[in-house]
Amino acid sequence: MIRRIGHVTAMALASLAFVGCQKPVITQPTDTALNVSDVVLRDVRVLLATTRNDVRIKMSSPFTIRRVNGPAVVRMDQCDWTNIHAESDGSIMFGDTNLGPGKFEIVPADTGLTTFARRSKGKWSPTRHYPGALRLSLDGKGRLQVVNFVDIESYVACVVPGEVFPDFHIEAFRAQTIAARTYALFQMCHSAARPYDVTATEASQVYQGVTRSGAADRARDATAFTRGIVATWSAPDGEQIFCTYYSSCCGGRSQRAANSMVDAPDIPPLAGGVKCDDASVAPTRILRWGPVKISKSELTSKVVQRSRSLNKLGRIERLEIAERNPWGRLSRIRLVGRNGQSGEMTAEAFRLALGSRNIRSTQFRIETRRESFVFAGGRGFGHGVGLCQWGMESMAQKGHRAGAILKHYYPEMHLTRAY
Ligand SMILES: [Zn+2]
Repeated sequence: MIRRIGHVTAMALASLAFVGCQKPVITQPTDTALNVSDVVLRDVRVLLATTRNDVRIKMSSPFTIRRVNGPAVVRMDQCDWTNIHAESDGSIMFGDTNLGPGKFEIVPADTGLTTFARRSKGKWSPTRHYPGALRLSLDGKGRLQVVNFVDIESYVACVVPGEVFPDFHIEAFRAQTIAARTYALFQMCHSAARPYDVTATEASQVYQGVTRSGAADRARDATAFTRGIVATWSAPDGEQIFCTYYSSCCGGRSQRAANSMVDAPDIPPLAGGVKCDDASVAPTRILRWGPVKISKSELTSKVVQRSRSLNKLGRIERLEIAERNPWGRLSRIRLVGRNGQSGEMTAEAFRLALGSRNIRSTQFRIETRRESFVFAGGRGFGHGVGLCQWGMESMAQKGHRAGAILKHYYPEMHLTRAY
């Protein structure tokens, strides 16, 4: 199924393959070019928590806690739930043990998992089981930051069950693994300024660690099947990976990335306008939404929270469509305030300001009432850029393979082996 090996030289392939077996950890990432031949295999750094509260871990196999680039400070055969928090003097507490200030790593022996939970608003989050190491450090505000260092193939296998429906076709699972892998690698090329590459939420990709289910088994099989394969396109500077955006349901036509994402490149795979048959398989509750009523004052406060400069408009009294894309989806919205002044937002930013679960896409009608707006006739779920997951399932059911599905949604894309 590999169409192209890009510009990876035989030697680079051999050394990448070797590195892959050694499960590398490169602790100082640098921003790199997107050329697939420059891809450096290292662990993905997934942000699990930034918190003033406790997190806790439980270990059922031997583990060490060591200072980053330093000696082990704790060695144990196992431990029951043990709380971890940051002290105001900058040191990190592991139960009753003061580890001191600095950065530490919890490293399970062999393939052991770290059982993890975090406290938020007085309640413990659901328990998760993470492969790889957990790094503990403090952010600039003295909050405890927990980052999971996990090899990219394990990461992809853990992401996919959270991103597709369990009974999706195996070719849909395979397409999703390639999109998830490429997305992560792309983020890893742009994260040198951050202590992490991706978050564990839908702001990046949903990552719930190792789970046990039929979907998790299928995700593992699909990940192994597509190991090292990424989505690329022939950029003027060479064969490059790109940000493989995907969303649940585009509602019939995909969206151009440059119309809705900040700083998204206007490149052929993300040009949008791809016709999609998601309606043939997506349930109505996914395909359609609305009406959603929001009072003018609530809407005003939410959009001002996102874009402070809109504060000068006063209460928003009218919404106008400033721009539609060629396929009818809203691209820009004009907001007219009580004092007659107006401002604009991308429709995507407007939607996110009002809540992505509330206004589920940028395809809707606006009805203006005296004290409120009603968003009606909503179609699709998500930003609609790139791969449409329900469209992917529809194509898989019709007999298309993962590569053909991805090529449909990312025009001019190639499948390339990165390692
Ligand atoms: Zn679609």
